[in-house]
Amino acid sequence: MSYSFNDRSYISQQLENHIVKVHSIAKNANTKGKYIVFGVGSTQLLSAAVFALSTNLSSRANVVAEAPFYSPYKEQTDYFETARFHFVDNLKNVSDYGSEVIEFVTSPNNPDGNFKKPVFEGSSVQYIYDHAYYWPHFTAIPAPANEDVMIFTLSKLTGHAGSRFGWALVKDKQIYDRMLTYIDIAELGTSRDTQLRALQLFKAMQQGDGKEIFQFAYKTMRDRWEQLSQIISLSTRFTIQEIPPQFCTFFQKVRGPSPAYAWVKCERKEDSNCTEVFSRAKITGRRGSRFGSDERYVRLSLIRGQDDFDLLIHRLTDLVSEEN
Ligand code: PMP
Repeated sequence: MSYSFNDRSYISQQLENHIVKVHSIAKNANTKGKYIVFGVGSTQLLSAAVFALSTNLSSRANVVAEAPFYSPYKEQTDYFETARFHFVDNLKNVSDYGSEVIEFVTSPNNPDGNFKKPVFEGSSVQYIYDHAYYWPHFTAIPAPANEDVMIFTLSKLTGHAGSRFGWALVKDKQIYDRMLTYIDIAELGTSRDTQLRALQLFKAMQQGDGKEIFQFAYKTMRDRWEQLSQIISLSTRFTIQEIPPQFCTFFQKVRGPSPAYAWVKCERKEDSNCTEVFSRAKITGRRGSRFGSDERYVRLSLIRGQDDFDLLIHRLTDLVSEEN
């Protein structure tokens, strides 16, 4: 098996066709006129995009993300920092109008599931839209996304995170070429085994009208969110994020929230380390500071297996019942 397909490309045309199809079924992204790059998970593409967007700028790019944000944006950018870019924690430090900015916009956001809008604007700002969760099972889809650089992942579409497969939709040919160069230099292509695995998954998903996976996964996530919200509503000690109902073009109706995570806040003064409070109740969450936020917050995952989720609900019920 050679590195490439027909000695030309690292990208399976068949798989590309299936990706275009899944977006048209989910109605979540406009693929027309876009180039597609594959990566070892979307994680690799986040870095490839930063390298691509920071080439040939007049000054060093400030890479930013508004808190709370997914921590690898900072971790990767710090680790791979070059003379062309660096991560800036405090958005106020990018005050000079006209400085080069690369902003990660995660929509819906990890950890809080809300739609994010860019913080920075202007001709010197470029965006990387991380749409890992922009699928009908995690969020309403108000309209197909149509940004210049958009990143998706199999991890949050089918749950096959360990297969390590992600893709980017890129409008500009030059940015696309630079991202391909990154993959070429870092990896000499994307695993053909992984691409074959992904293709089988897409084929399975697209049987019938291809909508069933979203209907099933939406119902699962919505039921989980309702169970969790119901317990938290009995508490005065904890609160969770609010996500307003919204019209969804996939379901053709207004629908309630079904996020991947609960972003929990500990409201009591003495609970300043929220992760500790949950840890004492044998609930493992990811601490607020990992997201550039406060230790009053902890993120709980709703996308584990059913047994883990049932245990979470059980232990959360006990924790909340201690209040009375
Ligand atoms: N972006 C976001 C917002 C995520 O939450 C994740 C996974 N937790 C990723 C990217 C990375 O996913 P992967 O590398 O598995 O594609």
